[in-house]
Amino acid sequence: MIDVIVAGGGPTGLMLAAELRLHGVHVVVLERDAEPPPFVRSLGLHVRSIEVMAQRGLLDRFLAQGQQHPLGGFFAGIHKPAPDRLDTAHPYVLGIPQTTTDRLLAERAVELGTEIRRGCELVGLSQDEHGVTVELADGTHLRSRHLVGCDGGRSTVRKLIGVDFPGEPSRVDTLLGEMEVTAPPETVTAVVTEVRKTEKRFGLGPVGDGVFRVVVPAEGVADDRAAPPALEEFKRQLRVFADTDFGVHSPRWLSRFGDATRLVERYRVGRVLLAGDAAHIHPPVGGQGLNLGIQDAFNLGWKLAAVVAGWAPAGLLDSYHAERHPVAAGVLDNTRAQMELLSPEPGPQAVRRLLSELMDFDDVSRYLTEKIIATGIRYDFGAGHELLGRRLRDVRLKQRRLYELMHTGRGLLLDQTGRLSAAGWADRVDHVVDVSEELDTPAVLLRPDGHVAWIGEDQRDLLSHLPTWFGAATD
Ligand SMILES: Cc1cc2nc3c(=O)[nH]c(=O)nc-3n(C[C@H](O)[C@H](O)[C@H](O)COP(=O)(O)OP(=O)(O)OC[C@H]3O[C@@H](n4cnc5c(N)ncnc54)[C@H](O)[C@@H]3O)c2cc1C
Repeated sequence: MIDVIVAGGGPTGLMLAAELRLHGVHVVVLERDAEPPPFVRSLGLHVRSIEVMAQRGLLDRFLAQGQQHPLGGFFAGIHKPAPDRLDTAHPYVLGIPQTTTDRLLAERAVELGTEIRRGCELVGLSQDEHGVTVELADGTHLRSRHLVGCDGGRSTVRKLIGVDFPGEPSRVDTLLGEMEVTAPPETVTAVVTEVRKTEKRFGLGPVGDGVFRVVVPAEGVADDRAAPPALEEFKRQLRVFADTDFGVHSPRWLSRFGDATRLVERYRVGRVLLAGDAAHIHPPVGGQGLNLGIQDAFNLGWKLAAVVAGWAPAGLLDSYHAERHPVAAGVLDNTRAQMELLSPEPGPQAVRRLLSELMDFDDVSRYLTEKIIATGIRYDFGAGHELLGRRLRDVRLKQRRLYELMHTGRGLLLDQTGRLSAAGWADRVDHVVDVSEELDTPAVLLRPDGHVAWIGEDQRDLLSHLPTWFGAATD
């Protein structure tokens, strides 16, 4: 039997598949579309996702395909210099189109032995105490021990398991596409600068080869957002907002997106779990959705692998919902706040000016920035040291960096004392004796996702904490 079926080969599903394969899990990705889509939705990776790639030894591939930009300007588009003292070794935004991110993640998943079946749409499912049976559009069935719905905002898996998706419906649609323009570049820049003073959901910028990415508010909310808009609609709306259609022509692709904001009530029903857009949707302000999905997968992968391997302690799989649901709720809230700040109405504009002034205080700027780049997340592991529950940044050790030790996806005991032992967990936890000037704790136990599970120097205390995350010791 297949261990895990992942429905959906977007960034979340591909990241999850790769994480599962690191632990030898038999995983099959079912992807409805025969070919990857041409649409470029996400434009980049934020710090925590960049760190995730570094933790798995993938960052060089992403850096080679992307462009590093200074941090800042992504909270409701309010431009301020990056705050001082950000707690990361990677203080930048990595500009990289989603089509490239998806390709790199697919390559990685396949390298690790994932089977990706394209043109395979999941249309039905049932589960019992031993596994999940999945029905495909061609009428065939597959059986697995677990199923993860990474099938996007309109998730079929979510609907089939009857999980509610409460929140707010779309109030406005936005048109997005890539096309050529006949207007000279200086006209484009001048007009766009003027329009953006009042309409923040407007943009026209070059993406290379004479092609422009065009963003403009749509006339209304579409019944079927999957149906692409016509070029004529772009022209009409450009004229409404800019008094010119810039002579747009020769579209590469045209799409529309809404601003619905929704979050599932449960991330798990029995053997079926949800991740990425299947679990949460929100407007793309701040560029967080893909990042959130990748980080869901990073949280879930090792836990589900532990269940498959049979060593997962009680409650480990449920900690996925407990940890990630509040994170998504926080992202939804910051996008709601940002959407208010983008409104051209006088009230929100006044709040925007006030917030802009407040962001001149470094602490305020850092607080808002950390919300978006997702480095401030602290999972609730109980009271204790300020690092407990947080991910540890990529500290420099004597001869290497911390994240170089985490490529295998196993737990890590970083021991600056040389007196500790995790011998009973040697198949799940690497024990490294090394020192870092950046770390003033004797030892830390890191989960495979880099979050600090224990801090201390007492062997007996360590032995009492290891089973919480890594199960029983082997003899
Ligand atoms: C205009 C726009 C700009 C954005 N910009 C950013 C940004 O800058 N940064 C950022 O982080 N995020 C951004 N996002 C959000 C980001 O694109 C999504 O959050 C991200 O794609 C979610 O990834 P996913 O894998 O969860 O879902 P998806 O990318 O939607 O992938 C789901 C996959 O499942 C497949 N599928 C669906 N149904 C089935 C089925 N029944 N059976 C099998 N397969 C199925 C689909 O074909 C698809 O390939 C943006 C979104 C939009 C619309």
